[in-house]
Amino acid sequence: MQALGIPTREFTVGSFQAGGRPIEHFDGTGRPMDAAASERWICDVEAVDAALAEQIAASDPGDSYLDVTERALDASGLDAERIDEIREFFRHRVEEQCGAWIGDLDAHGLDEDGIDGDEVIFPRGYDEIPHRISVGLDVRLSHAVRTIRRTDDGCLARTDDGDFSAQQVVVTVPLGVLKAATIAFDPPLPEAATGPIARLGMGVFNKIFVQFPERFWRADTYVVRALGEAGERWHSWYDVSSISGIPTLLTFAAGPLGRHLQTRPDAEVVADSVGALRALYGDAVGEPIDSWVTRWGDDPFAAGSYSHLPVGASHHDHDALAGPFEGGLHFAGEATWGAEPATVGAAYRSGHRAAERILGHAVDLAEFAKHVAESTADHPPGDDSPYQH
Ligand SMILES: Cc1cc2nc3c(=O)[nH]c(=O)nc-3n(C[C@H](O)[C@H](O)[C@H](O)COP(=O)(O)OP(=O)(O)OC[C@H]3O[C@@H](n4cnc5c(N)ncnc54)[C@H](O)[C@@H]3O)c2cc1C
Repeated sequence: MQALGIPTREFTVGSFQAGGRPIEHFDGTGRPMDAAASERWICDVEAVDAALAEQIAASDPGDSYLDVTERALDASGLDAERIDEIREFFRHRVEEQCGAWIGDLDAHGLDEDGIDGDEVIFPRGYDEIPHRISVGLDVRLSHAVRTIRRTDDGCLARTDDGDFSAQQVVVTVPLGVLKAATIAFDPPLPEAATGPIARLGMGVFNKIFVQFPERFWRADTYVVRALGEAGERWHSWYDVSSISGIPTLLTFAAGPLGRHLQTRPDAEVVADSVGALRALYGDAVGEPIDSWVTRWGDDPFAAGSYSHLPVGASHHDHDALAGPFEGGLHFAGEATWGAEPATVGAAYRSGHRAAERILGHAVDLAEFAKHVAESTADHPPGDDSPYQH
């Protein structure tokens, strides 16, 4: 994204890492852990993670991530309390990375989860990506597509605000929207598309940002993490104060907890997570001055947060969904990119793949990024983007 000229700030959470950054750990009873206890915990996770990789490699079709996790924990020789804490950590990792319950995820569901290099935050918001790459294009917002018809003469997309025809069409709605079947395809989609849509899963991963009058966590803390029972519901709070300049923690509600909390009012969700912080820090936790709660699973234009691999699905299902299908129909978006699904990178690359297939020739992504950076250098977000309205 740096190649597109978008400012970023390094913030590496490293696929829900156990260590590697200053993490303020609390044990299962909610007591702060000293450096030695934290170090032992990190070593425990690393050792079981290595055993887990072997169990995944040896797993059979139909094994869930929970199955392979339990086998690795059984073989660890650790005492029951340490096993419980690591079990909880693996469950939370699946929830955060996939938005899914560990028992529903395929044993290979986190195979593509590695991240090379730094992770970054976009201080001006993620929508700067579509803002930049759409400069000069005719983008129509608030045109919900209801039907996509394919005929011998091409494709027709029917929206509430008119019809749009083209020789070929690229459908980039989220997998959750395809699963909900809110867009009618005429003729109906072939099994080569409906199979992957049915087999792949759409997870829920929501964010809760809370701003406080005073910082009560350590100055160098990257993440506050509660282990075992103390972290059963709320376990990780990331310090994102540097973005707003106000003491701010970000926590997540994902998988079954995320789905449940979408049925509760924002105030209750925030109070629940702040209550969990008070169990760790006591009265030092002041009354929140502001908060934000996302509800991706409730959004009819998202119907979830990102895709994952339930038991019975395969990595090939992602790429198979891209098509192309008869009548010039293509799919793109994160769920159609098997090499790193559930990411912005996947969405970007899948769009590039669809463009190359339609154009019938290669498109150099580095050249494209250079062109975007040059043509948007004088257009900071907010100037004339349709995304600002
Ligand atoms: C809370 C959260 C945190 C995340 N964190 C990260 C991260 O740290 N790193 C990372 O790489 N990825 C992250 N992701 C995933 C990433 O955001 C997605 O993978 C990516 O945005 C998917 O892009 P997409 O183009 O496939 O789909 P989307 O960005 O969802 O775009 C689909 C578009 O289709 C539109 N649409 C839906 N239905 C219709 C319709 N009927 N008619 C017309 N338009 C329609 C929607 O309004 C939307 O604009 C995160 C996602 C969430 C929810």
